[in-house]
Amino acid sequence: MFEKVLVANRGEIAVRVMAACEELGCETVAVYSDADRNGGHVDYADEAYNVGPAPASESYLDQEEIIDVVQRAGADAIHPGYGFLAENAEFARRVEATDDITWVGPSSDAMETLGEKTKARSVMQEAGVPVVPGTTEPVGDADEVRALGEEYGYPVAIKAEGGGGGRGMKIVRSEAEVDDALESAKREGKAYFGNDSVYVEKYLDAPKHIEVQVLADQHGNVRHLGERDCSLQRRHQKVIEEAPSPALDDELRAEIGEAARQGVREAGYTNAGTVEFLVEDGEFYFMEVNTRIQVEHTVSEEVTDIDIVRWQLRVAAGEELAFDQDDVEIDGHAVEYRINAENPAADFAPTPGQLTTYRPPTSIGVRLDHAVAQGDEIGGDYDSMIGKLIVSGEDREHCLERSKRALEHFDVEGVHTTIPFHRLLLDDDAFVAGDHTTKYLDRELDDDALEAAVDRWGPAEAAGGDVTESTTVEVAVEVDGKRFDVVIEDASTRTTAKSADTGSGSDGGFAAEGAAEVATADAITAEMQGTILSVAVDEGDEVAAGDVVCVLEAMKMENDVVAEHGGTVESVPIAEGDSVDMGDTLVRIE
Ligand code: ADP
Repeated sequence: MFEKVLVANRGEIAVRVMAACEELGCETVAVYSDADRNGGHVDYADEAYNVGPAPASESYLDQEEIIDVVQRAGADAIHPGYGFLAENAEFARRVEATDDITWVGPSSDAMETLGEKTKARSVMQEAGVPVVPGTTEPVGDADEVRALGEEYGYPVAIKAEGGGGGRGMKIVRSEAEVDDALESAKREGKAYFGNDSVYVEKYLDAPKHIEVQVLADQHGNVRHLGERDCSLQRRHQKVIEEAPSPALDDELRAEIGEAARQGVREAGYTNAGTVEFLVEDGEFYFMEVNTRIQVEHTVSEEVTDIDIVRWQLRVAAGEELAFDQDDVEIDGHAVEYRINAENPAADFAPTPGQLTTYRPPTSIGVRLDHAVAQGDEIGGDYDSMIGKLIVSGEDREHCLERSKRALEHFDVEGVHTTIPFHRLLLDDDAFVAGDHTTKYLDRELDDDALEAAVDRWGPAEAAGGDVTESTTVEVAVEVDGKRFDVVIEDASTRTTAKSADTGSGSDGGFAAEGAAEVATADAITAEMQGTILSVAVDEGDEVAAGDVVCVLEAMKMENDVVAEHGGTVESVPIAEGDSVDMGDTLVRIE
């Protein structure tokens, strides 16, 4: 086993990985940005290193700096968590090429093969796994898309090769929409993933999203840990995940599990991974492979009693999987609720602020994966996740009963959260019956009901500063970039940091903004301070309403800035990497 593992991530997943390391007797190394000096993962680690300023591109994504720290710290492995560098084959390759450092994940070759969607589709097809009808080669032009639309029948989806989370995916409902959709998909693919290659797939009308957790060692053993149902989505993003799926019978369950295993074996894949499928009318179709640990791995752990992160480390260290496929038993039911600092009644806009009250539920059947405590700030630099509530029960019904209890006892003040949304869903007939598809929320979610839920179950007035008394003060000092926590005696009463400016808490200036910003005039302006991650348009380009013109890093990791009206781009006064202030002009459209 490794002696010291660097976790190249932050927040709950960094702590989750460190917990597994600790149980295996490995020391842990955290990395953090200036914005995360007080991060829960920094506290948790045995040692911690500052890797740069708040923007992820200058810290958590700084490959060179992270490799430098792993060497300075004398660590012998890197675990990437999810997000950031986790699916970056180039980074994995760099780690592989560094002496005495092991990458806790699949090989960079396997990541590359399965990370590109058309390659992954070919591999799966060769392994005999059904794929969503579509191309396995990138498409060239609009005529080709129209020919495919004819062949599969509309709607079809044009998808960016490197896409994910619904980004870079455009749905085409008729021949007339092909030109615009193709251009938009290419532009978004380029902006988000640096790759404007796209392909075409049949767009299924109302599928279930079913994914299979796999684990593979370096000795040829591949096991699956059953499926997760992630059909509850908002704009193609998962909001609640569960295991097992209420929609599969045993026969289909066994077939999908075997297909995932077969596909992964064919690809020469090792470590943990997820094979995603869409299921409609009793048929299943491969969609893509996620070559990393996923946010929702927890529900599989709960129903199988297998510690997936522990196995990631053991497999990376060369150990053999110690259980057979037949040993994997699914017992009971588990549901994961993502608790985000977002206001469901304001289009789920992130609401950064201080957790003036933070009292999560306890007792039987409740697991909480988080890295925050009362008094912490939920900043605007990264995603808005506060933590994940995972509830287990004997069966689905029992699990949902427990979930009601757990969510009712989850007290958060100071910021809006997704808790009222989850509580609303626990009274929703389609969700309770397990009948929901990936389209359900977008079609049925009722704004008035959301507003009422937030009124009823959301935070009371944004809490004021809470005053604590203390005779010691803990301060963090950095010596040569390495962090030390120092406790200093302090006789005077002190006020918790930042309590003076928490008055705006949940309803601060950000609350009205969504992930997509829309300008009303010809000038598209920044609605918040941030960094330009990429620019999707050039002078002279034609844009349609809703097209992404640039991506602004702030608040959430990435914010799409979209055009409200179509037109010709007159000027683009910004460039990639620029810092912009609220009100700055980003793009002018004629
Ligand atoms: P991911 O978020 O898993 O990286 P995608 O962006 O490919 O991957 O897909 C996200 C979601 O978009 C899926 O869970 C599904 O709801 C929807 N989706 C993707 N492809 C299709 C399709 N061909 N037909 C219908 N829905 C799709």
